[in-house]
Amino acid sequence: MASLAFEHIDKTYPGGTQAIFDFNLAVADGEVLALVGPSGCGKSTLLRLLAGLDDATRGDLRIGGEVVNDLPPQRRNVAMVFQDYALYPHMTVRGNLEFPLKMRNLPRAEIARQVAWAAELLGLDGLLDRLPRQLSGGQRQRVAMGRALVRQPAAFLMDEPLSNLDARLRVQIRAELSELLDRLGATTLYVTHDQAEAMTLGDRVAVLDCGRLQQAAPPQILYEQPANTFVAGFIGNPPMNLFPARLTAADGGLGLRLGEQTLPLALSTAVVERWRAWLDAPLTFGVRPEHLHLAGDDGEGVRATVSDAEYLGHETLLHVRVDDLDPPGAALVARLPGIRPFHKGEAVCLSLDAARLHGFGPDGKALDGFC
Ligand code: ADP
Repeated sequence: MASLAFEHIDKTYPGGTQAIFDFNLAVADGEVLALVGPSGCGKSTLLRLLAGLDDATRGDLRIGGEVVNDLPPQRRNVAMVFQDYALYPHMTVRGNLEFPLKMRNLPRAEIARQVAWAAELLGLDGLLDRLPRQLSGGQRQRVAMGRALVRQPAAFLMDEPLSNLDARLRVQIRAELSELLDRLGATTLYVTHDQAEAMTLGDRVAVLDCGRLQQAAPPQILYEQPANTFVAGFIGNPPMNLFPARLTAADGGLGLRLGEQTLPLALSTAVVERWRAWLDAPLTFGVRPEHLHLAGDDGEGVRATVSDAEYLGHETLLHVRVDDLDPPGAALVARLPGIRPFHKGEAVCLSLDAARLHGFGPDGKALDGFC
């Protein structure tokens, strides 16, 4: 397949809405890149620009190293898969799979060979004579994939292809799709607003907000080292807890001052030395729900009040309010193992893994030296 690249792309729609701002991103040959962000952040716009369905206002779009800005869509050789499948309702599965090949006037034997290949790959063998309305959502999605596959494109561009499926089926098809893309070594740009889908499918995940790239990294890096508060608050379910606080000197080490409370932080000397640079500065701190724990009676932690508890069987998501946070009563979520009974209004004390604290500056960017 082929590599893809966006170089300094701006897009302003007629009427003046600027949807994309200086966007730079390369997708390697064979890589699956998931592009994720909230609704309206510009994901579909980027896909449409690469497919040639719309023109960039500035910058270069490359497929296989070639600048394709001036090529019409049919000559870009990319296959798009949409959420509404766009299958031809009056054609059988076989007819739908054959259609792009017939359009290219391929010999009949070649068409039959390609259709058989895609049908076997996608488990559609027994369904070739059915019409789309005789298929389940998951099967229709597979036919749409098959139709993209038989074209043997330079790359796949997928726009929320699973979003019409119910939750359980989505997880199943997601796993199948991931395995298929791996097997094919298919260069794929996969657009979704669902961070779990992006994290499970993407070799790398690019996070977009308001038309600007926030971070592009493998899922684990994105989770463990978010570049800014937007990424920290978007990735993870529940996402990272973010709250304003200051570092303060405490007992020869450092403490975290949350309003009236000061929480001593158990840190190595090296970390204390690094973090001293931000002593007393107003910062935003972040901690993942799994790095908050219930402190025992004699333990030290953030004093908080239970507002809700979600019992999920293997874990409990404990929602608390902290009156000392700014704004007062700001919420934190802790992920606690197993089922623990809580009642609303109960006072709890939450300790945190100090070494897993993230620090962000006034501009929202992650500070060096934190995790
Ligand atoms: P996403 O796919 O992330 O939901 P879009 O790429 O569809 O976002 O849209 C990005 C921004 O561009 C939005 O503010 C949207 O309203 C605007 N937009 C999209 N298409 C057009 C259009 N044809 N004309 C004007 N504005 C548009």
